[in-house]
Amino acid sequence: MSSKQETLREIRINPIVPNQSVVIATARSLRPRKKEDPAPRDTRKHVDQCPFCTGNEDKTPPAIASYPDEKNWKIRIVENLYPVLDDDNNLPGFSLGLQQAISGYGRHEVIIDNDNHGIAIHEMDEPHLAKLFFAYQNRMQQLYSLDKRLRYVLVFKNFGPAAGASIAHTHSQIIAMPVTPEDVYNEVVHSRRYYQKNNQCIFCSLIDEALTFEATIYDRESGAIRRKINVGQYVVEKGKHFVAIKPFASRFEWEIQILPLTHQADFLDADTDKLSDLARVLRRTMARLESVIGGAQYNYFLHSLPHDPECLASHDSYHWHLEICPRTSIPSGFELGSGFFVNIISPEYAAEKLRAVKLDNDT
Ligand SMILES: [Zn+2]
Ligand SMILES: [Zn+2]
Ligand SMILES: [Zn+2]
Repeated sequence: MSSKQETLREIRINPIVPNQSVVIATARSLRPRKKEDPAPRDTRKHVDQCPFCTGNEDKTPPAIASYPDEKNWKIRIVENLYPVLDDDNNLPGFSLGLQQAISGYGRHEVIIDNDNHGIAIHEMDEPHLAKLFFAYQNRMQQLYSLDKRLRYVLVFKNFGPAAGASIAHTHSQIIAMPVTPEDVYNEVVHSRRYYQKNNQCIFCSLIDEALTFEATIYDRESGAIRRKINVGQYVVEKGKHFVAIKPFASRFEWEIQILPLTHQADFLDADTDKLSDLARVLRRTMARLESVIGGAQYNYFLHSLPHDPECLASHDSYHWHLEICPRTSIPSGFELGSGFFVNIISPEYAAEKLRAVKLDNDT
């Protein structure tokens, strides 16, 4: 096992969405690079002035849902006080020349992940995390059935100021919107194309490939070995139902994706047994990240089949997943101007580092 990463400079094409490419340029890591301020994480359990802490329930809008109940809540869903989208005061859509707008109808809610103010995901116990995923699922389901105009319910988490979290208390967010976000739409469209050609889900193919330990590419003419690829090297963590994979074309240095091992398009179809395993795989994955980069500030978000008539037919070709994107650097002008992501750590090296972490308990 190498402890140093090899120098690598190549453009990798995202296998799911081919028009999204990543420049892997490891030599850049030798040069000084502007880093996010690694502001120390707020690890306090309770903060008197925090609107999300217990005892301050009157500082937030009334609870939409609480687990296990409003009085003893460990997870609490409330409306966002500063919504990106909401259902009143929305302007009707219009179209004028090249200016088009659709009504900004939607919902924006906050899920207070835990009653403990500064707890990190890897410190939460697995039954709690399973309950959190259940809370996501339940609220998504309610929102979809509440209003048929909603096409997508995005669940995401910003952790740490570098990831855009404005309140330190651990929380996730839900934005229900009348359009399918482009990133998800692109995944749906491209994976459907792959399915039409190969009669197989591309995510399932990627998982199969990741679980195969080694592959050798031979030269067709001479039969000589052209390239040996150790594909199993992308697996970071594996559970009964889920696998955490370091994407081959990772946009972010420590990006990881968690996918169900057997085909499933819609996160809403995951049963409680699955959610428990997801909790375990996520907790262990985050513990690995914590051990390698310490105090990770990150975004994670769920990509699931949109409830949009055009996408709903893609049950066989789309495969839901959780994307975890740790923020370790600020995008440069090259990235913003080109749409390329620059990643200075080779995904193979990152996966090796993450996998090498010894987790003390195996419960
Ligand atoms: Zn708090
Ligand atoms: Zn699949
Ligand atoms: Zn995705």
